[in-house]
Amino acid sequence: MCLWERKHIEAMKYDYLVVGSGLYGAVFAREAADRGKKVLVIDKRPNVAGNIYTKKVEGIHVHKYGAHIFHTNDTKVWKYITRFAEFNRFTNSPVANYRGELYSLPFNMYTFNKMWGVVTPEEAAAKIEEQKKEACITEPKNLEEQAISLVGRDIFEKLIKGYTEKQWGRDCKDLPAFIIRRLPLRFTYDNNYFNDRFQGIPEGGYTQIVEKLLEDIPVLTGVSLQEYQTANAARTADEQDSWDRLLYTGMIDEYYHYRLGTLEYRSLRFETEELPEEDNYQGNAVVNYTEREVPYTRIIEHKHFEFQTGEGTVITREYPATWKKGDEPYYPINDEKNGALYAQYAELAKKEANVLFGGRLGQYKYYDMDKVIRSALDMVKEELAR
Ligand code: UDP
Repeated sequence: MCLWERKHIEAMKYDYLVVGSGLYGAVFAREAADRGKKVLVIDKRPNVAGNIYTKKVEGIHVHKYGAHIFHTNDTKVWKYITRFAEFNRFTNSPVANYRGELYSLPFNMYTFNKMWGVVTPEEAAAKIEEQKKEACITEPKNLEEQAISLVGRDIFEKLIKGYTEKQWGRDCKDLPAFIIRRLPLRFTYDNNYFNDRFQGIPEGGYTQIVEKLLEDIPVLTGVSLQEYQTANAARTADEQDSWDRLLYTGMIDEYYHYRLGTLEYRSLRFETEELPEEDNYQGNAVVNYTEREVPYTRIIEHKHFEFQTGEGTVITREYPATWKKGDEPYYPINDEKNGALYAQYAELAKKEANVLFGGRLGQYKYYDMDKVIRSALDMVKEELAR
């Protein structure tokens, strides 16, 4: 029986109730607990770790909610996360498959050479400049213009347009330019998808990191905030738990019962296949399918994240999906309309005396894992200095 379901229970007084046991909630909980705070973590899923949850399937750590590759430039964050697991030397070098033509990612000299036969950085830059001029772009106003002015029309058409429109469910002209600036562009022969100093995958998967972060902290899984509050309210007054402050890492609009409107998200559907007869399905951890006609954006072959060579493999096809209430939200859609609505919710949040919001969903931000950790550490510091 869950702790919260027990009929007679000693009332607990917590300093923090943390809603969500993903990376943000877990880091916050750990740091608060280490400074002597009493913390309770609850999560509506049956397991901890939010979207970095990994599960062993046939000896392979499968990234259940999409591939997570840790990378950071922040030495403190790297030192922090490596306390909880050994990281391997995995370098993300996805391959883009456009109608059977293979290109290196991110956009670098290997990509330019394959696309145009150019050999020197100067030739590549000249080719991009020529295509940018043809498109008459001076100030890029959206993702399409930004992409063409960075890498030219050919790369935009073959490697960006179809993938991006599948991923976000809208035209590249209707998307903010910053999304494409996430990807490095370099005039060297270097297929590393990230520019960061530190990169790797935790040996043994991500779930153990969260489990270690939450060691000795009480965690209730399979219970939403509402369920917890309802069960708590049903107890007699002297048996009720209480808490001083609440950290909410779920969707901020959901917390407010969508009273100002619904923020949009992009969802994903994962189709995972176990292939016991195959040892090496695609020769790389990540292969992107950049043409519009293939319904998924990428195939992940999980064993390559940990350089496993044994028998059998597990692959996951990632299908972007329209999000509707009740679906898993993965990506906030940081365009003007949603930005303005979020700003209104953020105003409400500011007025809260004892509620904090954190993480990709709580702050409606396209955070990478290292930024999540940094933000959680900063929040704890600020909190405990109060
Ligand atoms: N992108 C693209 N083609 C690719 C890979 C990425 O056009 O082969 C664009 C696409 O718009 C995507 C953005 O770059 O949304 C950011 O890609 P990233 O790999 O950072 O996305 P994530 O891993 O967060 O889904």
